[in-house]
Amino acid sequence: MNLNTMNTELSPIIGIDLGTTNSVVATLIDGKIEVLSEDGEAILPSIVGLTLDNKLIVGQAAKNQLAAFPERTISSVKRRMGESVQLSLGDQKFSPQEISAMILRRLKQRAETRLGCEVTRAVITVPAFFDENQRQATREAGALAGLQVERIINEPTAASLVYHAGTPERKHLIVYDLGGGTFDVSIVRIEDGVVEVLSSKGDTRLGGDDFDELLAKHVAAEFSNAYTFDLLEHSSTRWRLMQACERAKCELSTASSVRISEEFIATINGESVSLDVTVGRDEYERLIASLVQRTIECVDEAIRDSGLTMSQLDELILVGGSTRTPLVQRLLREEFHREPKWSVNPDLAVALGAGTQGAMQAGHAVGPVLIDVATHTLGIEALSTDSYDSNPKLVYARLLVRNSPLPCRFEDIFRTVTPDQSVVEINVYQGESDELTHNTLIGTLRLEGLNASSTADGFILVRFELTLDGILKVTAIERASGIAQSLQIHNALRTNQSMTHEESQERLTNVFNQSEGFRAWVASSAADTSDGEEIEVTEFSRMDSGAETSKQPKLNQLINKAKQLRPSLVGDDAEDVDRLLEQIERAMQDEQIEFLPGLEDELDDLLFYLQ
Ligand code: AMP
Repeated sequence: MNLNTMNTELSPIIGIDLGTTNSVVATLIDGKIEVLSEDGEAILPSIVGLTLDNKLIVGQAAKNQLAAFPERTISSVKRRMGESVQLSLGDQKFSPQEISAMILRRLKQRAETRLGCEVTRAVITVPAFFDENQRQATREAGALAGLQVERIINEPTAASLVYHAGTPERKHLIVYDLGGGTFDVSIVRIEDGVVEVLSSKGDTRLGGDDFDELLAKHVAAEFSNAYTFDLLEHSSTRWRLMQACERAKCELSTASSVRISEEFIATINGESVSLDVTVGRDEYERLIASLVQRTIECVDEAIRDSGLTMSQLDELILVGGSTRTPLVQRLLREEFHREPKWSVNPDLAVALGAGTQGAMQAGHAVGPVLIDVATHTLGIEALSTDSYDSNPKLVYARLLVRNSPLPCRFEDIFRTVTPDQSVVEINVYQGESDELTHNTLIGTLRLEGLNASSTADGFILVRFELTLDGILKVTAIERASGIAQSLQIHNALRTNQSMTHEESQERLTNVFNQSEGFRAWVASSAADTSDGEEIEVTEFSRMDSGAETSKQPKLNQLINKAKQLRPSLVGDDAEDVDRLLEQIERAMQDEQIEFLPGLEDELDDLLFYLQ
C-alpha cells in the first residue's frame, strides 16, 4: 500500500480529451481537477503543421497556416485513426498515430510545465463508438508520445463522470456528445458514487466538420453561379472558404443570418474576386437537418438498448462544441421532451472527466467509480451447421454482445470443418448485422498443429476477453491437446508500414527536437534588439515605429517605403500594396514568421515595379 502511495505522488496520471477539432488536458492539482492552459488558452486545436523550413508546429500556429499551406498542415486526424494510411505533411509522410502523438506530446509538455515533473501516464478519451482498431491506434499514439495509456474511456462516459458525481439519489442520463468529427450518445445510470453506462450508440463520421462542409458547398455553389469557379476545387481557396464557413456556422448559433465575406479569395481571368454571400439561419438549418436527424435516431436506439423507458430518463446532458447549434437543441427538446443542459463547459467536460478518471486510477478518491460497456458486438466467421452438408453457408457467430459491461469474457465451442483438419483460421468480425460480410473484419488468428493427439475430436474453444479500455483479446484452444493461440486486436499493427515502433518514436523525437530549436530561434530573434532588452515574439510587429529587430531591417525599410508611396497610388497598384502590407502585418501578429521571407520578396518586386 505504501508503495502505491509513493508511486501516485511521483507519477501523476493526466486526462486527455484528444478531440477531432480541439484537444484539452486536465489533471489533479491541490485536490481538484483542473484544465491546464497555456498562454491563457485551455483548448489546443488538434492541428499539426510543418513550416516551410520543416519545423513542426502544433495547435493555433498550425491552424493559422492551414488556409495558406494546406499541403503542409493536417487537421481532423482523429477521423483517420485506425486506418492503415500515410498522410502527407509537406514532403514527409506520417501515420495517423504519429500525427496524434505530436498533439499528445504537446499536451504532455503542457502538463509537465504546470506540474513541474515528468508526466508518463495518461487516461485518454475516445468516442464511444470507436472500434478496436481505433482504440488500439489511440493507445499506440500515446506510447509514441511517451505516455503509458493507463486507460481509454469513452467521451460521453468521461463527461458524465463530472456531472452529478456526488449525487446520492439514482439518476438516469442521456449524454449527447456532438463534437467536431464524431457523435456519441450514452445512457448512463449514476447511483451511490458509481457511473454505469447502460448503452452507447454513435457515428464516428458525423460532427461539426460535416456542418462546415455542407455550408461550404452551399456558399461555393452561390459563388460559382456568379463566377463559374469552384472554390472547393482549389486547395488555396478551399481552406479559406472552410475556415470562413466554420466561423459563420458558430455565428449562426446566435445570429439569425451571417455575411460570409472574404476579400480577394480568387483570381479569375487575371482579376481578383472577393466572396460575399449572406446565409440565413433557416437556410443553414435546412442544410444540416438530415445530419441532426441521424443523431436523433441514434439516441432513440440507445434508449431502446438501455431497456429504459423515456419516463425513467431524468436528464439530457449536452457535450461537445456542436451542441451549441440551436437546431440540435430544438430537435432534442421536441423529440425527448427534456430541456437539454450542458454538463459543465461543453468544451472541457470530457477532459475534466478524463482527469477525474486519471486521478482515481492514481489512487485519489475524487470521483465516482466507472462501469463502461462494450460498444460493438464481436464474433467470428463460422460455417452454419444447419447447412453443413447440403449448402454450406458462412455465418456471423456472435460471442460478445454489444452493451455488455466491461471488463467481460465470453467463450463458445466450435468444431473443425473436416475431421483431419490440422489448421484453423479464425476471422474475427465486429458489427451488428446478421450478414457476415456487412460487418468489419478486425483480425485473424491461426491455430496450427491440430489433430495430432489420439484424443482429438475437432473441438476448438474460442474465448473473447474485452478489457476496461475496450481492447479485445481472442484466444483459441484445441480442447484435446490444449494447443492455444492468442491475438490482441491491433490492425494498427505498426505505426508506419515500413517502420518499427522504436524507429517511429525516434523519428518523432527528431521532428520535435527540430521544433524546439525553432522555438528557441524565435525567442532569441525576438530578444535580439540593439539595446539588449528582452521583448516578446509579437514585437516583430513594431516595425512602423522604427524599432527594428536585427533580423528584419530590409523588410522594415520596404514597409516604410511602401507606406510613403501609398498616398500617390490608385487602382490595382494601391490594392496590391494594401494587400501585401495586410498580409505582412497578419503574419507578424500571428507569429507566422516563416511567411515573411516570401512576402518580403513580393513587396520588394512590387516596389521596384512601382518606382
Ligand atoms: P469539440 O470537438 O467538442 O471541441 O467541438 C468542436 C466543434 O464544435 C467544431 O466543429 C466547432 O466548429 C463546433 N462549435 C464550436 N462552437 C460552436 C458554436 N458556437 N456553434 C456551433 N458549433 C460550434
